[in-house]
Amino acid sequence: MAGDISTDYDAVVVGAGFSGLAAALSLHDAGAKVAVVEARDRVGGRVETHDLGGGAWIDLGGTWAGPMQERVLAMARRFDVGLFEQYAEGKNVLDLGGKLRPYSGTIPRVGLGPLLDMGRLQLSLGRAAKRVDPDQPWNAPNAEYLDAITLADWLRNHHYGEVATALLAIAGRTTWGAEPREISMLYVLSYIASSGGLAALLDTEGGNQHWRFQGGAARVAEGMAAALPDGSVRLEQPVDSITTEAGAVTLTGQGSDGTWELRASRVIVALPSPLRSRITFNPSLSPTAAAGSSGWRMGNLTKCFAIYDEPFWRKDGFTGEALTDAAPNGLTFDVSPPDASCGILVGFAGGDDARTLESTDAAGRRELVLGGFARLYGERAAKPEGWVERAWAAQEWSAGGPVAVAPPGALMFSQNGLREPADRIHWAGTETSALRAGFIDGAIRSGERAAAEVLAFTQS
Ligand SMILES: Cc1cc2nc3c(=O)[nH]c(=O)nc-3n(C[C@H](O)[C@H](O)[C@H](O)COP(=O)(O)OP(=O)(O)OC[C@H]3O[C@@H](n4cnc5c(N)ncnc54)[C@H](O)[C@@H]3O)c2cc1C
Repeated sequence: MAGDISTDYDAVVVGAGFSGLAAALSLHDAGAKVAVVEARDRVGGRVETHDLGGGAWIDLGGTWAGPMQERVLAMARRFDVGLFEQYAEGKNVLDLGGKLRPYSGTIPRVGLGPLLDMGRLQLSLGRAAKRVDPDQPWNAPNAEYLDAITLADWLRNHHYGEVATALLAIAGRTTWGAEPREISMLYVLSYIASSGGLAALLDTEGGNQHWRFQGGAARVAEGMAAALPDGSVRLEQPVDSITTEAGAVTLTGQGSDGTWELRASRVIVALPSPLRSRITFNPSLSPTAAAGSSGWRMGNLTKCFAIYDEPFWRKDGFTGEALTDAAPNGLTFDVSPPDASCGILVGFAGGDDARTLESTDAAGRRELVLGGFARLYGERAAKPEGWVERAWAAQEWSAGGPVAVAPPGALMFSQNGLREPADRIHWAGTETSALRAGFIDGAIRSGERAAAEVLAFTQS
């Protein structure tokens, strides 16, 4: 490469989540010499599978894939990880305002007024999202206004009723790990557009929650890492600094064996965007590039799993899917293994609900969540054989989940700074993807895009 000095690698990738692994794999497939440096002692980042033994597992982070997520489906095929459908036979439950309403199909029995209101909300959110190009939301009609208001403001301005507003808030706490008052309306519309529409975003059958990965989602990440040359993924090596000089980039960090240094022609930083600010860049990033991390912040999401000897709710005619405002676990799903050799319920607590759990001791958290499960599925749900929690905000190398969110003003300010290369530094991470941002699929797309940017230089 013209002007380059001697380096150890064509590119070093920071982060072995799906975006970093996809970047490294694309570069390796194209014949480039690449290394991945990862802070944790495992690959997968916000995807982590916990083995329960006896053929059962739980996905502590990313879990599902949907038909519009072609890149993650292709990666699962490449690494021979099978898919199976999310269990969806029976009735879902809606638990709002102290009233339990089991329902079949997609329409809960909430009365005609709230039902019409929900229809109106879906229609206008869908229409508004169609006017936003997720590749450049800052150019949407009314972008400045939409980025100046929150989702809560928008709901109030359009006079939506209590039921529709509550339902969207519950769904939003799991989708973004944030409250409607915390996120920019432009960000919300861009996210919906990036997902392929509201139905793709929220639905189980035919939507983003359609399939689970056989053996857990982390198996795909492990397959990706194993396809790289031996020794190219370096675990427990958090990057502290990135220095760009004429012709090369030098990365330094403190690993388990002391200080290390690597030199590459280019670097791909594949982190949730707010975590970029933990790395010292020399020279400092331009204000545009720094904007990619400064205004955004991580959502807050906790997953709680209760493990039973069987999925007993199925016998009672329930899918295990519920929306509730009566407990911190706003959304529940059946995540039992495909052979139903045991029963597993997961509850998602996002935004304020996650903060409620954070400020409660371990016994209290368990009581609150299991109380919520028992309210939905009966007393048997209060007595599981096993219990696992994962608070993503407490994870040092994620600092939250499921995604980084844009509070009002952040998107108009950062604009393309989130992913525009800064000299020899390229940016990946699901947040930088135009399509399927926030999902494993978006992470893979972002890594492949960043690798293509690097290859455009290395092959010129
Ligand atoms: C609870 C939860 C549920 C989710 N559910 C789904 C779902 O069902 N379906 C779906 O598609 N998506 C889901 N997601 C989102 C999905 O997991 C993410 O979009 C995706 O995994 C992000 O990948 P990434 O590579 O962009 O980032 P990450 O996975 O965050 O990878 C970044 C990596 O960088 C490492 N790192 C951080 N700082 C440094 C440093 N200084 N030096 C070196 N390494 C560093 C981290 O350890 C991490 O491994 C969920 C996420 C969570 C948390």
